[in-house]
Amino acid sequence: MRLRYAADIKTLLWLALAAVNLVVMWTVPSLRTWLLPLACYFALCAGLVAHNHNHSPTFKSRRANDLLNHVATLFYGFAAFNWIPTHNLNHHKFSNGKGDATITWRHSNKHNALVAFTYPFVSAVMQAPLIDAYVKSAKAHKPQRFRSIVVQLVICWGLPIALSFVDWRATVFTLWIPRFASLYVIMYFNYGQHVHCDPYSKWNHSRSFTSPLLNFLLFNNGLHAAHHMKPGAHWSTLPALHAEIAPNIDPALNESSFLVWMTKQYLLAPFLPRLGTRQIGRAPMDAPEKVVSVEEMASAA
Ligand SMILES: [Zn+2]
Repeated sequence: MRLRYAADIKTLLWLALAAVNLVVMWTVPSLRTWLLPLACYFALCAGLVAHNHNHSPTFKSRRANDLLNHVATLFYGFAAFNWIPTHNLNHHKFSNGKGDATITWRHSNKHNALVAFTYPFVSAVMQAPLIDAYVKSAKAHKPQRFRSIVVQLVICWGLPIALSFVDWRATVFTLWIPRFASLYVIMYFNYGQHVHCDPYSKWNHSRSFTSPLLNFLLFNNGLHAAHHMKPGAHWSTLPALHAEIAPNIDPALNESSFLVWMTKQYLLAPFLPRLGTRQIGRAPMDAPEKVVSVEEMASAA
């Protein structure tokens, strides 16, 4: 089980801590409420680990990589393979432009609390057909991949349902609530990272959040512009990549803190509109005749 990048010791440590937290919550009921925020954080991290891992595998061995997908699936709440059809093959291709199933502007390009906080539900529904097609295609043409998908689906749904019969209260606190929180927050992050950006621009396709604390806690997932320009780059290399490209990006798209940005957007901008986001460059619904993916634009440089 050899790592490709030493930085992924952190990935393994975080998953191990998630497991320890689950065991403690399961066996000591009086601590469940106190440890629930931590369980939500680790569930979120498991989702981010699955994201990173499906872009840039953690291990050299295929079997070890499969195993990591299975472990991340347990905590994340969505089978890890789902990242491939909806994210790698769709979102990264269109970057919130036409064709992206997870567009932030499906019903409105306005950015307010109602649009933002209902977005994860809209996005989840729109991702379903891509997942369905991917599973059917794997079943027909890729038996090995299909077996891995089945194992992930059993871990994702079968295991927590079975555990709910053993102790439903413990399962709600250790898995169901943290998983819902993780899925919701990850989809909302996607909203924040793309709303009012220009999907057709080489530099202004994504909003980045540069706070060192946020990026430490979330495996550099705040550095979204760098990630879109080089999706295969390992998460540990994103700060250097971001430093390289940051001067080219509209300063309005390089935010520091996610929480400050949310406060400005949802609490202050209703009274002081200049504190809210505004469309940068070309609006996503106004696609040019020929669309080139961000990754292609970046690699053509
Ligand atoms: Zn990605």
